[in-house]
Amino acid sequence: MAEADWELVVGLEVHAHLKTRTKMFCRCALEYGAAENTHTCPVCLAHPGALPVPNGRAIEMTILLGLALDCEIAERAVFARKNYFYPDLPKGYQISQYEHPLCGRGALRIPTADGDREIGIVRAHLEEDAAKTVHAGGATGRSVGADVSLVDFNRGGTPLLEIVSAPDLRSAEEAVWFLRLLRQTIVELGISDAEMEKGTLRADVNVSVRLPGEEGFRPRWEIKNMNSFTFIGRAIGAAFRQQVAAHEAGETLEQSTYDYDPDTDRLTVHRSKEEADDYRYFPEPDLVPVEPPAELVESLRGQVAERPADRIRRLAAELGFESASELGTTGNEWKAEALAAEGVEWKAAAAIAMNRGDFLPENAAALAKVVQANVTREALDEAFAAAATGRIDAETYLAQTAVSDESALDPVIQGVLDANPEQVQTYLGGKEGVLGFLVGQVMRETQGKADPKVVNRLLREKLGR
Ligand SMILES: [Zn+2]
Repeated sequence: MAEADWELVVGLEVHAHLKTRTKMFCRCALEYGAAENTHTCPVCLAHPGALPVPNGRAIEMTILLGLALDCEIAERAVFARKNYFYPDLPKGYQISQYEHPLCGRGALRIPTADGDREIGIVRAHLEEDAAKTVHAGGATGRSVGADVSLVDFNRGGTPLLEIVSAPDLRSAEEAVWFLRLLRQTIVELGISDAEMEKGTLRADVNVSVRLPGEEGFRPRWEIKNMNSFTFIGRAIGAAFRQQVAAHEAGETLEQSTYDYDPDTDRLTVHRSKEEADDYRYFPEPDLVPVEPPAELVESLRGQVAERPADRIRRLAAELGFESASELGTTGNEWKAEALAAEGVEWKAAAAIAMNRGDFLPENAAALAKVVQANVTREALDEAFAAAATGRIDAETYLAQTAVSDESALDPVIQGVLDANPEQVQTYLGGKEGVLGFLVGQVMRETQGKADPKVVNRLLREKLGR
């Protein structure tokens, strides 16, 4: 059998820091990048007798996400203690949710080029993050060999949303696409910045393989705390190849935690099954169950606007799936929609939305006029730069028309051709891409005032193509 005979099975556990003003169970402020250990109190430092008080806004945010993922919202959710020892967890347990999470079964329907795929959501629950351990000194900069390990308790107690997907993802690309859509959903709900570089969005990736038609699942590998879309995709690919090779060699795989090394593109075992955790969950005795009132859930439902996946489905009809996906997961679609509403052709509007910066919505009409007029590239740049900060007047830019007069452009174009004989030969030899270079040279000679469309046409004519 070959790799192509095996089916990949991926499930994700996604963690997002909620964007509340204060921590999950105390009133310490959340501030990213603050000086170490400046946001602490007896509750988040686990002083004996200090009691937790849940953050109501964090509960609302979790329900909001649950609604956006069509989850069942619990009538009664219970906080539970997850017991384990770690230096950055001073209580000796983390307050999480176990048997009764706030959000139960749901789904994220992900649009693809060949129609929708429904990815199940097993649950979404609320918990607190641990503090942050910083390993300092030593040669490696990692925990092994470090001179000291220091704990910054600012992060301890940050509200953390955990979303668990069903093992429904079937390729690395699909897993990354699911993650991008989920991230964009979270960002648009305003509940988290969900920035992987800052660690406010992290994912644990579960990977196994099986033969088509096989019932159930083979032992899975868990890759924890991934914080880059690129590495998640590559780690899944590496896990797939290593597991297939192992199964084909007749090895018995164990369910274990793995680390992905981007340098070697391989996974190495981090922790084996023998040391598997037993968290001894039990209901948190210091907190009463959460019973969200039906009116609250309904009012939160009203706050869920069009979801990114739905928007991509709608835009794909105009733009095709690829452009719609790009717009829909970068938060740029409003720019395209605003320009299209003012008469700019949809595809052009989408290209502008992706390639230009933000502008004030009230400038959409003026920008639409400038975009559709034959103005210089310089004027276009100026218009978009000004439209980001204040109200613009289209007339200011419309006067700066581009040079499309062929008799004016002809000598410039001839000059560029004479000065670049090598590029001309390459082009004539079949390398169409060189045309872009020649257009660029003409634009430079004219200080950006030439109309690139006319330059393009004249160049082709002169070169006999
Ligand atoms: Zn605190």
